[in-house]
Amino acid sequence: SVRVRFAPSPTGPLHIGGVRTALYNYLFARKMGGTFILRIEDTDQTRFVPGAEQYILDSLAWLGISPDEGVGASGPHAPYRQSERKDLYLAYADQLIQEEKAYYAFDTAEELDAMRTMFESKGSAFQYNALTRVKLRNSLALPAAEVQALLDANTPYVIRLKVPAKGEVRFQDSVRDWVHVHTSSIDDKVLMKSDGMPTYHLANVVDDHIMEITHVIRGEEWLPSAPLHILLYQAFGWTAPQFAHLPLLLKPEGNGKLSKRDADLGGFPVFPMEWTDPQSGSISKGFKQEGYLPDATLNFLAFLGWNPGTEQELFSLTELVDAFSLERINKAGAKFDVNKAKWFNEQYLKQQAPEVLAKEYLGHLPAEEALAFVSLFLDRITFPQELATLVDSFVEKPATYDEAVIQNKWNAEAEKGLHILAEALPAVAVWQADDIKHAIHESLEAAGIKMGKVMQILRVALSGNGAGPDLMISMQLWGKDQVIERLAAALK
Ligand code: GLU
Repeated sequence: SVRVRFAPSPTGPLHIGGVRTALYNYLFARKMGGTFILRIEDTDQTRFVPGAEQYILDSLAWLGISPDEGVGASGPHAPYRQSERKDLYLAYADQLIQEEKAYYAFDTAEELDAMRTMFESKGSAFQYNALTRVKLRNSLALPAAEVQALLDANTPYVIRLKVPAKGEVRFQDSVRDWVHVHTSSIDDKVLMKSDGMPTYHLANVVDDHIMEITHVIRGEEWLPSAPLHILLYQAFGWTAPQFAHLPLLLKPEGNGKLSKRDADLGGFPVFPMEWTDPQSGSISKGFKQEGYLPDATLNFLAFLGWNPGTEQELFSLTELVDAFSLERINKAGAKFDVNKAKWFNEQYLKQQAPEVLAKEYLGHLPAEEALAFVSLFLDRITFPQELATLVDSFVEKPATYDEAVIQNKWNAEAEKGLHILAEALPAVAVWQADDIKHAIHESLEAAGIKMGKVMQILRVALSGNGAGPDLMISMQLWGKDQVIERLAAALK
């Protein structure tokens, strides 16, 4: 059965691109009746950031795409944190050494730097490979006795993969189709570092094999590593999983990869949740705190690199599962369009139960009033927390009046209309939108004035603004006394 994994490194807050990767893995697992695994790839101790793992778990939980197996769950292949699986990787690296598919390399950083400089001075780039390894300090180039002496003396070493000098690596990616790479373009990558930790490449391949991963769905930035991974599977004699490399997320303008800087400049979030950097204390915005709903966020992310092939845009998580397939993932990079994200949020906001919004965002008001405000403002907001701000400014008496509207619409007839209303409104017995409307209509008609000549001026008189939500409901919510008072103030 299908087994997929999301394998982030806890080097900082999970980027929204990482969330998309998690989502596609989740969707594919659900679609195929498979298992979605979370593995934490924390072998690079120098880049470890405290809190990052918890942040990943919290983000997935907020979005409702938590793993079935792995960190944060449990499972038959525990532990799922690579730092806790350290010894395992060494055994596999040793196996490759025994089979002469990998070798010890004792070169110091200075020696490698010197090599690099020498190559650069000749205008070429240094690669540790079949051509150069014979001239370097490793167990393929040195006599066996010398190698043994170095090992006995505890000389620091790394273990490198012996990449064949000649040959082609080929694999069929679900998104990119056939990928061909000549082995001469792949260097003898380090598998085990001198600190005894595996590199990403070794740990990733060993774990994907042991954890019986059937499909590797990950970002396109890993595509260049895939040929090396294929070589590793071949070296171990294992079958490689099916690869699917997801298209890049591009800046809103489409010019290059989306980065944190774009977010800062554009004022939009690129992280699922707010993140406080443990070192600098600086805060990065999150979708959650900005007021994006989880389902809207998922729907938006699903479309960054995938399409259903139909016109339908609104998909619940269950509908996404039904519609999702690896075949419909796009090759071309996906532009991060924050306006689209907002659009999705507006659609999902309208689907929320008004009672829930009222309780959560206008809980300080009497329930009935809160509910009335929600229906008054719901189609005017992008984020739910705007409700409270709108209510606040709604209850404020106007401090100024929209000049442009007054210039255009204030005339003798409109003024006369307002005076008529100032007299008629106090007589309205039941202060309800319908009754208010009826009274306005009747009194203006009796004076031979069209409602259309007065309404915008009335709105400006009562709210100060030329536009806003339903005026009759607004008047109901302001209350009779307040409306009469505001109208009198405007006519002074
Ligand atoms: N640890 C890698 C990352 O941070 C995993 C890449 C992969 O899925 O193979 O994205």
